[in-house]
Order: sequence, then C-alpha cells, then structure tokens
Amino acid sequence: MKRRAFVRSTLAAAMAAAVPYRRPLLAHFQAVSQDAPNVDAITGDGGQVTLSGSAITDLKNRLQGRLLLAQDEGYDDARMILNPSFDKRPALIAQPTGTADVRSAVDFAGENNLLLAVKCGGHSFSGKSTCDGGMMIDLSAFRDVRVDPVARTARVTGGSLLAQVDHEAMAYDLVTPMGTVSHTGVGGLVTGGGFGRLARRFGLAVDNMLSADVVTADGQFWRCSANENADLFWGIRGGGGNFGIVTSFEFRLHPMQRRVVGGQILFPIELARDILRFYAEYEARDDLTLDFMMVAPPGGAPAMVGFGVCYSGPESAAERVLALVRSLGTPIVDGVQGMDYVALQQSGDTTDPRARATYLKSGFYPELPNGLIDAIVDGFDPAPNRTTLVFVQQSGGAIGRVANDATAFSHRDAAGNLLAITDWAFGEDGSEHIASTRAYWANVEPFMQGFYTNDVTLEDTAETINANYRENYPRLVDIKNKYDPTNLFRLNANVQPTM
Ligand SMILES: Cc1cc2nc3c(=O)[nH]c(=O)nc-3n(C[C@H](O)[C@H](O)[C@H](O)COP(=O)(O)OP(=O)(O)OC[C@H]3O[C@@H](n4cnc5c(N)ncnc54)[C@H](O)[C@@H]3O)c2cc1C
Repeated sequence: MKRRAFVRSTLAAAMAAAVPYRRPLLAHFQAVSQDAPNVDAITGDGGQVTLSGSAITDLKNRLQGRLLLAQDEGYDDARMILNPSFDKRPALIAQPTGTADVRSAVDFAGENNLLLAVKCGGHSFSGKSTCDGGMMIDLSAFRDVRVDPVARTARVTGGSLLAQVDHEAMAYDLVTPMGTVSHTGVGGLVTGGGFGRLARRFGLAVDNMLSADVVTADGQFWRCSANENADLFWGIRGGGGNFGIVTSFEFRLHPMQRRVVGGQILFPIELARDILRFYAEYEARDDLTLDFMMVAPPGGAPAMVGFGVCYSGPESAAERVLALVRSLGTPIVDGVQGMDYVALQQSGDTTDPRARATYLKSGFYPELPNGLIDAIVDGFDPAPNRTTLVFVQQSGGAIGRVANDATAFSHRDAAGNLLAITDWAFGEDGSEHIASTRAYWANVEPFMQGFYTNDVTLEDTAETINANYRENYPRLVDIKNKYDPTNLFRLNANVQPTM
C-alpha cells in the first residue's frame, strides 16, 4: 500500500473507533469544533437562565440523538404537537435514541432547573408536551416494539406509538389494549390509564403493564414492577408523567383473532334521547365496546347519533349480539362489519393532523340518570364552521373489577368518560367554539365525578387536580417527594412535592 493511502486508511480506522456508534463522522467533528451559541431559557418556576454554548455543546456530544436549537433544521417540525394551537418554541429540543440519551437530557434539564416538557405522540389536549423557552425531550426517535410470542409479552420503548404495538402483537394473534387513534403515543396514553376498544374485556392499558424502566429527575435509572420499586410502579400506572420518563414498558399480551366486528353506526340525531336511555339500561358485555357519540361535522351536514362499535367475540355470534344496537332505528350510516383489528384501530386516524385546532372538556360519570341524558342532548350546539362532537369512552367491565387504589388510576367506578370536543380550521378565531363548549359543559358538569388525568385542561387548578386523584393523592405525593422532589416533571396533571 502506498504510504499516503496507508495513512488515510489508518486515520479513518482510528477515527471510526473513536466516535460513538452510528454518529456520522462529519457531524461529530462539527459538534466538537464549534461551540453552540449561548441560549436564554426558562426555569421550571418561570425564572430566566442563560445556557452557555459550551454546556450545550457538551450535551450535544453526549447524545447519540440530535439536539436542536431554534436555528437548526428539523426544529420547527420537532417542536409541534398534534394541536397546532400550541405553537410554542422550546429553547432546545433533545431527541434521544435510547435510555443513555434520556439520562443525559434529564440530567441537563435538572442541573439547569429548566422548564421541561416530554413529548411522545404529542396528543396532549392541553399542550403539556411542549413549552416556551424550556427544554423539550422529544421521544419520537426512540420507537421500538419487540414481541415475545412464547411468553406473551411486548417490550415497548417510551416514544412508541400505539400503531406499532398493535401491528407487532397482531402478527402473532396477540393483543394488548391500547387507545382508539393509532398515532397516539404509548408514553402519554399508558401513564395516565389508557382507554380503548378492548378495555372492557382486558382492562385499561395500565392494567396490562407488567414492568417498566424509568429515568427519574436525578437521571437515575429504575426498573419497576409489582416486586421491584413497587411504589414507582404503582405511581406510573395512572399518575401520568409526574415521576420520570418511562423508557421501556413491558405489557402482557392476550390471544385474540385478527378479525373483529367494528365500525360506526349512526342514526338521525332525533333519536339521541332514546339511544342514551338504551345506553343507560342495556346489559353490557365485556367483549362489546359501545362508545356513544353525537357528531355534527363542519359544513352544516345533519348531526347524527350512535356508537363506535368493537365486538371481539366469535364473528358467528356478531349478528345476534349487535341486533340490539341495529334495532334502535334506521341508521344513516352502518359501517359495522367484520374487519382486521389493526385497520379498525387506524380508522379514526387524522390524515392532516395540523390542519385543525381543538378544544375539549371532559369528565367521568358514575351513572346516566335522566337529568344527565337531558343535559347531554339539550345543550348540543352544532355550527357549520366547526366539528361538534360529544363522545363517551365506555368504562366498566374489566376496568371496574380493579380496586380504585390498586393503581394510581382512581376512577374505576365510572360508567364512562364523557368528552365534549370541538375543532375548527387552524388560523380561524376559535373563541366562539370554545365558549360554546364551555356553555355545554356547564350543564353536564354537575353530574361528573372528576376527570381523566390525560384530559387535564388549562383551566384546571392545583385544587381540582389534587382532588381528582381522590384517595390516591397522599400516596402520589409521597412518591413525588421521593423521585422528583424539585418537580422537574411538572408539565402534566401535576402532583406537587411537599418537601
Ligand atoms: C386524537 C386523540 C385520541 C385520543 N384517544 C384516546 C383513547 O382512545 N384512549 C385514551 O385513553 N386516551 C386518548 N386520548 C388522550 C391521550 O391519552 C392523551 O392525550 C395522552 O396524553 C396522549 O399521549 P401522547 O404520548 O400522544 O401525548 P404527549 O403530548 O406526547 O404527552 C403527554 C404527556 O404524557 C407524558 N409522557 C409522554 N411520554 C412519556 C413517557 N415515555 N414517560 C413518562 N411520561 C410521558 C408527559 O407528561 C406528557 O406531557 C386521545 C387524544 C387525542 C388527541
């Protein structure tokens, strides 16, 4: 080999050995040779802090994933969440590719007391997964699902989406209950509870969590399960993102055939009262989920009432089981049919997620008395320039057979989670739509007992949030004091530490 060629190849080999696995060489040398600029940022309690360029460069060099500042390519995409109304600009965004990166990013946020947002699927209705001036840890580069078909378990990394879990598990005719829109994040959905089409049969997503790995505010790594760090394991099953970042979930899988019977059946809105009376009284089964809905699409088309249906029992029995729903009237839409479960799970996905701004109010109701039925029907207020949707995530069944204090999710006694949702074209003034939803909610609210942690709103206060955890609140405070005494993880339905 000629001398110059030998020197080049030896140098290349030495450099390849010196740089971290998978990091492009050029990016590495740019990172170490150029200090990032100083960046002004916001602390958790709203103070100002200047992050030095050398500290930012040091963090960048420790990460295998990217660290984005406002001027970097990819920053604008990374900072967005599903609801475009939350058009916020974090001072820096870390995109970990693994647990080591999560630890480095959390360490950095903790050392600098930064306001910290954690984003998985970005579905937070109240914009908790982004922030102005703080740090965002965006888990979207940390997505992986591995199924063990023999043990019937799935290992799911903390940034994964529901679609990935359904897809991988169903390849073995196995399933674990997740939510109903497949681009929702596992990280946010599961830590708050996790309602879905199979929850009456197999429980909430938290009820199927066997263990988890968590990075807490001091950058420490914890494995937790019923037998190991059981307090943390209890807290992350309903306490939301209060205690740290879950880097890996282990779920129990259940055998289930791919083909289920599902879809929407919708009747004229005039039947709303009768259909709600049926909903209050019919004999519910675990293998049939009926999510009630009243919907008026934008554009002025007639409003409709009916159900999102998922029947996961034997298909040969579906006609008989669903006869009670079909006998409610002559449907305008009857899309309930045998279909692939994964396709049903994707049927509510949004194709242009950032085109619509959204506002929501929600609450759990323990029963459906006539007064509540009247309030649900009478206040329904469609308008052509918005979607008006009233929706129930049906509860009961396996969800209700778990004690309120068995996990941090404390609303096992609910019959359903009632949501009033509106959306409108992003960029248009939404104040009229928000006002209408609030007015609607004022009439149904007296019948509600608390709300789903994942649907916490900007109007909620420390008082409403604490009360909502019910008898589980003191235990959650103890866990918060132990694992996050400085309240680094505060952008959530926040349990404030008392230490
Ligand atoms: C279109 C739509 C459909 C929905 N459908 C359902 C449904 O069927 N069933 C249901 O139960 N809920 C549903 N929800 C509500 C949903 O559970 C919450 O919005 C949930 O927070 C979304 O999780 P995410 O990861 O997508 O959200 P993000 O906005 O990314 O995160 C929300 C919060 O979760 C926490 N978090 C995220 N990842 C982690 C992690 N790895 N470790 C620790 N904390 C973390 C953080 O505190 C973060 O602020 C729906 C929401 C939307 C917008």
